[in-house]
Amino acid sequence: MALMTAQEYIDSLRKLNTRVYMFGEKIDNWVDHPMIRPSINCVAMTYALAQDPQYADLMTVKSSLTGHTINRFTHLHQSTEDLMNKVKMQRLLGQKTASCFQRCVGMDAFNAVFSTTYEIDEKYGTHYHENFKKFLTFVQDNDLTVDGAMTDPKGDRSKAPSQQADPDMYVHVVERREDGIVVCGAKCHQTGSINSHWHIFMPTISMGEADKDWAVSFACPTDAEGMYMIYGRQSCDTRKMEEDASIDVGNAKFGGQEALVVLDHVFIPNEYIFLNGEYEFAGMIVERFAGYHRQSYGGCKVGVGDTLIGAAALAAEYNGVEKASAVKDKLIEMTHLNETLFCCGIACSAQGFKTKAGNYQIDLLLANVCKQNVTRFPYEIVRLAEDIAGGLVVTMPSQTDFNSDTVVGRNGETIGEICNKFFAAREGVSTENRQRIMRFIENLCLGAAAVGYRTESMHGAGSPQAQRIMIARQGNIQGKKQLAKDIAGIKD
Ligand code: SF4
Ligand code: FE
Repeated sequence: MALMTAQEYIDSLRKLNTRVYMFGEKIDNWVDHPMIRPSINCVAMTYALAQDPQYADLMTVKSSLTGHTINRFTHLHQSTEDLMNKVKMQRLLGQKTASCFQRCVGMDAFNAVFSTTYEIDEKYGTHYHENFKKFLTFVQDNDLTVDGAMTDPKGDRSKAPSQQADPDMYVHVVERREDGIVVCGAKCHQTGSINSHWHIFMPTISMGEADKDWAVSFACPTDAEGMYMIYGRQSCDTRKMEEDASIDVGNAKFGGQEALVVLDHVFIPNEYIFLNGEYEFAGMIVERFAGYHRQSYGGCKVGVGDTLIGAAALAAEYNGVEKASAVKDKLIEMTHLNETLFCCGIACSAQGFKTKAGNYQIDLLLANVCKQNVTRFPYEIVRLAEDIAGGLVVTMPSQTDFNSDTVVGRNGETIGEICNKFFAAREGVSTENRQRIMRFIENLCLGAAAVGYRTESMHGAGSPQAQRIMIARQGNIQGKKQLAKDIAGIKD
């Protein structure tokens, strides 16, 4: 099957029986729900750009499994060039959506599970790698979006999965049958879950022998019997439900999406199982998936950062201060920080290596350094954007006020006229454009898109401490001590 168009992708979601709950109710037509639709449009961009000849090299690639042309979001990276192209593609998508476009979690899961299943089979003679290759061929041929589901609720963090008071705190096998397994549990803050055709579930931490039933990885359709999602709300999300608030929303077209995904006795046939009790491989999947996703942030967050830097520059221009040296310097600083993140994304890709299974893995140390910087720099970029834009980002009246014909002034002026008078930008710039750019900045810095740009920069792909543990492990302090000893002439 050929690549899907954006419209075909949206239509394909309607055919699924995905169970979505929001504000305590089941949402039947969730595809057209004003709070959900922007996140669907965002994933649709990954399809739209793949149809655009201008971006063909970045967005499409030959499948290593079939030789067919596929969307890069379903690709197994075959070289360091592929890894770098992945980051460049994510930057492009960030620039086009100013949001989290969600499809990367599946791509990162494909690459982590592909290489890990190969090594499990090598040790145990299992058939997980064959299962996975068949599944991925199906995904590539049908151009599907797949959620990579990793983060369990975790309950008491001081305890292993098998020690939890409630065993559902980590996804686990509750029944083993001849033809498959039955699983229970949940995954939290799942990016793009509802917008995905399928899910790949993976463990979220390293496990011991007692955790065998929790060491499980598998694929299942998003509308599998027993599976449902509860939508995660975002700051200012109900603005999307208001009439006449498209400017107030800040980014009316695109947005991110996170949900709680619940597995209530879901049956998984044998052919979709990629790990089932081989507990010592749980950590390998986690480390590889997290590594890829930490690389990803050196692309997506940079693209979104580009839009925020542009918005700050426009805000300065509209206020007539773009020539002020202090403003210019802040824009330089924002650019420097943003490009540093891109450097990290490219560097961990350029230093990638071939796995036993044949796909390419990023350099783990550099990917963790990349994500560690992402936990900091976007915050500084946001601070500078707010500094340049001014307080109006958070104090401006609503769009309804700007459009209101209610008379308020002594001479019959309407609320709309008063707002337009006092919030006028410099000559030649419409008040509406100023409104638009302020709301765009608000959306990214502290509105709905701040989920994807700010807080996700902190916690997505693992919280800062998770990267510091990996940096400690990969940093080779012993080797560095030896370097110092050699030159200082220290002999033990
Ligand atoms: Fe992709 Fe970035 Fe969203 Fe992760 S946070 S899914 S890498 S856009
Ligand atoms: Fe993420």
